[in-house]
Amino acid sequence: MARYRESVCRQCRREGAKLFLKGDRCYTEKCAFDRRAYAPGQHGQRRMKFTEYGMQLREKQKVRRIYGLLEKQFRSYFVKADRQKGVTGENLLVLVERRLDNIVYRMGFTNTRAEARQLVCHGHFMVNGRRVDIPSFQVSINDNIAVCEKSRKLSRISEALASAGRRTLPEYLDIDKEKGSGVLKALPKREDISQAINEQLIVEFYSR
Ligand code: SF4
Repeated sequence: MARYRESVCRQCRREGAKLFLKGDRCYTEKCAFDRRAYAPGQHGQRRMKFTEYGMQLREKQKVRRIYGLLEKQFRSYFVKADRQKGVTGENLLVLVERRLDNIVYRMGFTNTRAEARQLVCHGHFMVNGRRVDIPSFQVSINDNIAVCEKSRKLSRISEALASAGRRTLPEYLDIDKEKGSGVLKALPKREDISQAINEQLIVEFYSR
């Protein structure tokens, strides 16, 4: 599978926003975006004027990078969201928010979505008592997500849980840190996603 191999901090600088892709480091003074809040590269400090298309593209790229998705995957979420009833932009965000790797990250079992994706792939999590190793698995209401018995001692998970306090637990989730499990109480709503996202621009981008 294609992978992004450059520094992920460049992605924040390119999108002009903190995307929180490096876990704890994002909250320290080492954050590259806090130190150099301009686009990477030789011409990064030039004043950028975006066209309408440019703004739509950047917004789409930003959300794709936040959730660590490739273009093909992200577009297929859009197609699915467009077929659903309701507001397409909101449907899109709810679909990506319900991915198992995102839920694992939101519950605080990992510091980043990339780490969540890796741990899910390696079979460290169960959904309703069954091991699931598919990061794109869509979590449904009342699904129970739990760290596998053998994986509870993993220092990566315990360290992530210890530092997860700095992130707010979304209202649609319930978590029991002692048991290493959590439940999706309700479907995520638009207001549960606190990062500044203009999903309408993404809809416009794909509807051209
Ligand atoms: Fe982005 Fe800063 Fe985190 Fe790097 S450390 S991923 S620049 S928020």
